[in-house]
Amino acid sequence: MLSRLCTVLVLVTAMISSAVPARAYTLQFTDSSSKAQIKWPSHTINVAFSSSLAAPPANFKAGSDVVGALRRALANWSEAADIEFTESWSKEQSISAGGGSGDGISLITIAGTQDNAAPFIGASSEMSGRTRVFFTRSGSITEADIVLNPYQQFSTDGTTGTYDLEATFMHEIGHLLGLEHSSAVSATMQPRQGKNGIYSLPAFTPRSLSEDDRAGVRSIYGMRPESAKARGAVTGAVSYHTGVPAFGASVWAEEVSTGKVAATSITLTNGTYLIENLLPGKYRLKVESLDGLVLAAEIASQRGVYAGLATSTQMAFRTAEIGQVSVRADRTVKLDAQLSDQPLQLNPTLIGFNGQLSTLSVPLAPSRVYTIYVGGDGLSLKNLAAEGGVSVTSPYLTVNPSSLAQQQFGAGISVISFDVAVSENAPAGDYSLRLQSASGEVAYIVGGLTVDAAGNVTNPW
Ligand SMILES: [Zn+2]
Repeated sequence: MLSRLCTVLVLVTAMISSAVPARAYTLQFTDSSSKAQIKWPSHTINVAFSSSLAAPPANFKAGSDVVGALRRALANWSEAADIEFTESWSKEQSISAGGGSGDGISLITIAGTQDNAAPFIGASSEMSGRTRVFFTRSGSITEADIVLNPYQQFSTDGTTGTYDLEATFMHEIGHLLGLEHSSAVSATMQPRQGKNGIYSLPAFTPRSLSEDDRAGVRSIYGMRPESAKARGAVTGAVSYHTGVPAFGASVWAEEVSTGKVAATSITLTNGTYLIENLLPGKYRLKVESLDGLVLAAEIASQRGVYAGLATSTQMAFRTAEIGQVSVRADRTVKLDAQLSDQPLQLNPTLIGFNGQLSTLSVPLAPSRVYTIYVGGDGLSLKNLAAEGGVSVTSPYLTVNPSSLAQQQFGAGISVISFDVAVSENAPAGDYSLRLQSASGEVAYIVGGLTVDAAGNVTNPW
C-alpha cells in the first residue's frame, strides 16, 4: 500500500520455536560427533494422538478443528517423502519427562499438565511447541513426543495474537522426522514462527512445505515411489581466503529459470556442503554467513555441537555468488567456493511489510504490487548501487527503482522501502531479495518473499 510509505515502522518480535535434540538435515546427515543422520528406522511411523486433542483446553480457540489440523500436517509431510504415519489414540496426557529413555510411545499432546508445561519455562515461554526426540547411538529414532505450549493461545482461523495450529504442527512434525532448522526464511523449518497478525496477515506460510523442506525430508527418507523422478546433487567445499574451511556457512541453490529457492545446506567442519534432490536443470549457487535474518545459534543443534558458531567472528563473511551449475539426473556436480577477505558491510537482518519489520517471509499474491521494507547494516540509499541496488533474482518479480526510499527507524538500523511487482504468471514458491552496494558487495534475504499458490493466497493487500 503506497499510502503506508511514511508509516512509522514497528519491529515485531518473531517468536523462536525450537526443539530438543535433533540433528540437521542441512548438516548433510553427519556432524563431528555422530556418524549418522537422526532418522526413523522404518518408513512407517506410529504416532499416538492424546485424547486431549479431542477435548482441547481453554488456550485453544473454541471450535478449532485440532485433530483436522494435525491430520493435514501429517499428510503434508507424508506426501513429500516416502513416509507413512499410522495413527492411534491414547489416554496419555503428558509427554515423557526428561531423562535418557522414553516410554516408546510417540505422543502428540495439547494437555495443560505440569509435565507438558515444564519445557516452556523461562526462555522457552514464548515457543509454540516443542518436540523431544529419543534416538539410539547409531541415530535410530525410537520415540518422538510433540507438546504444544499450554501458556500460548492457538487457533485455526488466523485470529490475531494466536499461533496457527496447523503451522505449529507442521514445524514440530519436521523435528519428529529428524529435521533441524533451515536457513531459508520461508521454510516451515525456519527457526522462528510468527503469531497471526504479523504484517496484519494470518501466519499460514509454514502450513505449506517449501522446496527446501521437501528436499530435506527427501534426503532422509527418499521420494515416494509413485512420484520418484531422477534427481541430481551438487557438492563442494567452501573455504576462507586463507584456505581454512568455512564451517557453518549457508549454501543455497536457486533455479535459474524461475529464481525460486530450490534447497539450502550448511557446511560441515571441513567446509563441505551437499544439496541433494534437485530436479535436472540449471541452478545458481550462493553462500552467505548465518548472521543475517537467520542466526547460526538458531540453526545449531541444542546439543551444543554448533554452539561455537554463534559467537565466532569468523562467520561474518561477505555473501558470495559461487556460480552456475547444470544438474543432471543421478549425477553429483562439484562446485567449490572461496570467500572474500573483504569485511562484511551490507547485512540485511529484517524484512517487512505493512509498516512492520520482522524476520518472517512476506507472503505475496500474483498480479499485485507490494511495498517491502528491508532493515539492517549498510542499507542507505547512498550506499546502494544506483542501478540494481535492490532486485529480486527472478524474472517474475520486479523492483521499481524509482520507488526506493529511505525510512526512519532508529535503533541503529537503516531501513529502506521499495515496490515489488509480482507478475500474473509467477510460480508459487520462495524468492530471494538481492542487495548490491555501490562498491559491488552483494547480500541476500534468502526466501524473503513467498508467492502463494493461486487459491491459497493469504495476502489480500
Ligand atoms: Zn524448531
